[in-house]
Amino acid sequence: MHQAQPSPPLEPRPREFPIPELITRRVVRAGLCSGCGACVGLDVSGRASMEQTLQGPVPQFPADIVLDGRAFDCCPGKGLDYPDLHRRFYGAAPRNWLTGPTVCVRTGHATDETIRRASASGGVLSQVLIYLLEQKLVDAAVVVRQGIPTPAEARAVFATSREDILAAAQSVYIPVSTLDKLRELEPGKRYAMTCLPDQAAALRWLQLSDHPQAQQVKFVLGPYTGTALYPAAIRSFLRSCGVAGDDAITSLKWRAGEWPGYLEIRTQSGRIVRSNKFYYNYLIPFFITRNSLQNMDFANEFCDLSVGDAWSPVFESKGGGYSVITTRTAGMETIIQRMITEGLLTTEPIDELKATEMHGHMIDFKKRGGYLRNQIRQRLGLPAADFGMKPQPLPCSRVMVELVISGLFLVGSLAISHWIVERIPERVIGPLFNRLRLAWKSASKPTKRKGLGNLTMIPTRRDT
Ligand SMILES: Cc1cc2nc3c(=O)[nH]c(=O)nc-3n(C[C@H](O)[C@H](O)[C@H](O)COP(=O)(O)OP(=O)(O)OC[C@H]3O[C@@H](n4cnc5c(N)ncnc54)[C@H](O)[C@@H]3O)c2cc1C
Ligand code: SF4
Repeated sequence: MHQAQPSPPLEPRPREFPIPELITRRVVRAGLCSGCGACVGLDVSGRASMEQTLQGPVPQFPADIVLDGRAFDCCPGKGLDYPDLHRRFYGAAPRNWLTGPTVCVRTGHATDETIRRASASGGVLSQVLIYLLEQKLVDAAVVVRQGIPTPAEARAVFATSREDILAAAQSVYIPVSTLDKLRELEPGKRYAMTCLPDQAAALRWLQLSDHPQAQQVKFVLGPYTGTALYPAAIRSFLRSCGVAGDDAITSLKWRAGEWPGYLEIRTQSGRIVRSNKFYYNYLIPFFITRNSLQNMDFANEFCDLSVGDAWSPVFESKGGGYSVITTRTAGMETIIQRMITEGLLTTEPIDELKATEMHGHMIDFKKRGGYLRNQIRQRLGLPAADFGMKPQPLPCSRVMVELVISGLFLVGSLAISHWIVERIPERVIGPLFNRLRLAWKSASKPTKRKGLGNLTMIPTRRDT
């Protein structure tokens, strides 16, 4: 694990309510749970579980269960104090809040074309995980795999071989808990884990509180994370493609084929339904998860290695799959340098601010949009996540744009909107949405990018 400046271990705070009740009341019933699994991972009795719901996985606690106060304090659903976590883990606040702390930013891909083409963008996460296993730097990796336990579902699984890692390649865009796996880690073994931003932050919080299983995770890797979808999006998509409700899904890939890939679903009746990555994005306004709206971390700032798609006209015209590769700790940087020297990764350095131009809209969506959406909820008297920071600058025009965006998400979440969209064929709504998305992106670009280059985060007082 990365060694931060010495700081006292995080201590759970005393609470007036039993911890499971507090989590259920303040996070789960409040609709803030991201389904990370950390609270269940801390249940040593093994009786708590993550239950699969239409809103993704949520914790379930038997009535008499006793949980450590850390299960609430590390919860990213209610929010974590990010400036404090940065200071404790990295020893300082990021010098640039667009990418988070970095050692080096590169673009590139796995040199092995089989790995590259099996993966979401450049196959970097899969290649690094394989390297960690083959070099015996870890004994196993916790990865997220589509198709477990059924083709339409996904779960975190243990991977101990190259084949296991490749079976879990590609992004999974529905919520999957990973930190509940902590209680299954074998004593004395070392692990790598792939995490979304909320999960990586909770894991770092636990490591800083000297949680023994969390400290067995030696490498945290994760994707840049814009939006994820509630599982109901899958059936809605199939209805738009005219697939009958009783036609069972036999396989599902979110990023099949040539980068950037397409959603591919095969069904029992032999139907094969495909939708270009940019076309099936039409599902986002209708099925976006609450975690995607409330979390303020796009670039997965608490991972040793964070990887995103290298969206640029140059790479997109070359095809094959390109990633943005961000190392955040010295240990991971050494590993990446070794892999480059050994010819396993093909990379080019890129200025970290230049790299953010590939994701400007999503960075703004998280850093300023996430803050505003949490503020809007709070002002409406609704429970809201608090990440202990406020973006600056935050022009009035950006607030206005957020009211439009949030209004659209609100309308999109209604049952009537789902009913309507499912009646529009995917071949119509996909391209139409893509045109609208590009038009909106270009119209809102001056406002969304205004002041983004100088973005900083002001720590705020938290009250959890
Ligand atoms: C929900 C989500 C939203 C994303 N949004 C963006 C975005 O807006 N912009 C952008 O540039 N990139 C985004 N990405 C990242 C992008 O899709 C690729 O994952 C990334 O470029 C890494 O590609 P790769 O080829 O190196 O990964 P691969 O080599 O294909 O490996 C992917 C690894 O990620 C792990 N993984 C996949 N899904 C999950 C998950 N849900 N939770 C935890 N681990 C997982 C798997 O275990 C696998 O090991 C997103 C990814 C996800 C999962
Ligand atoms: S966000 Fe994670 S820690 Fe918080 S309640 Fe949900 S599963 Fe538990």
